[in-house]
Amino acid sequence: MNTAPMRALRLEMLEGTRPAACARCFMVEDLGITSHRQDENAAWREEIPALVASTGADGSIAAELRTADLRLGNVCNLRCRMCSPQSTRALLPEWAAYHGVPLRHPYFDRFRGVDWFEDPAFWQLVEREAPGLQRINFAGGEPFLIDGMFDFLERLVASGRAPAMTISYNTNLTVLPPRLLALWPRFGSIRVTASIDGVGAVHELIRHPSKWEDVRDNLLFLDRRASALKLGLATNTAVQACNVFGLGRLLAFLTGELASFEVPNLTIVTHPAHLDVRVLPAALKAEATRVLDAVVADQSSRWRDRWGDEGCGRLQRAIAGICTHMNEADATALLPEFRRWSMFLDESRGQSTAAAVPELASLFTDPWPARASPRNEDTHAR
Ligand code: SF4
Repeated sequence: MNTAPMRALRLEMLEGTRPAACARCFMVEDLGITSHRQDENAAWREEIPALVASTGADGSIAAELRTADLRLGNVCNLRCRMCSPQSTRALLPEWAAYHGVPLRHPYFDRFRGVDWFEDPAFWQLVEREAPGLQRINFAGGEPFLIDGMFDFLERLVASGRAPAMTISYNTNLTVLPPRLLALWPRFGSIRVTASIDGVGAVHELIRHPSKWEDVRDNLLFLDRRASALKLGLATNTAVQACNVFGLGRLLAFLTGELASFEVPNLTIVTHPAHLDVRVLPAALKAEATRVLDAVVADQSSRWRDRWGDEGCGRLQRAIAGICTHMNEADATALLPEFRRWSMFLDESRGQSTAAAVPELASLFTDPWPARASPRNEDTHAR
């Protein structure tokens, strides 16, 4: 909490500058999209003056930990197209094959032994050093697969702390362990944010090897039990070249089929850059813009009925921001890499981007681009 980088970060924030670590939030804010930074500032609005007042001139703080965001390593059952071995070690074989190096290559060693969350001493440290924790967010990898997290929650229940705590998750929602469902009612509140990138074939293309029916059933399961389980429910969609044309179908599903979920959150994939919507040629960008404008025109009244003016406006601004982001820069230089990565994964997984996203079929009529690609960036793209 008081390392030199954290102290410097606080001072930058207090000076009103834009710290480099916050670039992502400011990028989406500049597009008119509500950022995580803004959501958190709103959630803690009443506490902020006291927190600022208690910050030392060198940026240090004495405050006890109230919230924690724990990214539980890189164990995941999926291999999403925009992900990396930093977040799912299951991608390692495909990464090695794609980059033409052996799986045992030493570069990959950093991704193999990420297991600090399996050490009971880590969880004991959290319990001992953060007795005032009110809120913990778990992400991954896939947090619903991590036994250490279940054990930790059981100890919080046994210690009597659970009723005063909020537990939240970022999850791919491919599994809903009964052990977890039994624990949730013991806590003050539970919040689940499901990563959903499309419906049907689009979802399965991006979030391989998940099955849309399974994820849809789990969404519906939670939706129907939201009040019984004291659940706050949300979705996050990583908008990218492969799902920008399917956004309307996804939003229609989220609006029409789910009764308890908050207004959908749309984020923009910028890493890896070859999956960014900016990679699309001008004609496809124009078509995507037309499709998104039609989605706003067709669905806005339903969004307003469902989430009020504020929620509807939030979605409208998000879609406008996606269009601005897509159209304000030309990244077609990365189109060969987009094609190469997509065709490689299609062949490796027995999938077809062209079949799942017919709007992109024209990009796949030529043979493979010959040039080998640079490495994907190690950026978690949930
Ligand atoms: S994006 Fe999330 S769900 Fe998908 S592979 Fe990466 S960690 Fe797993």
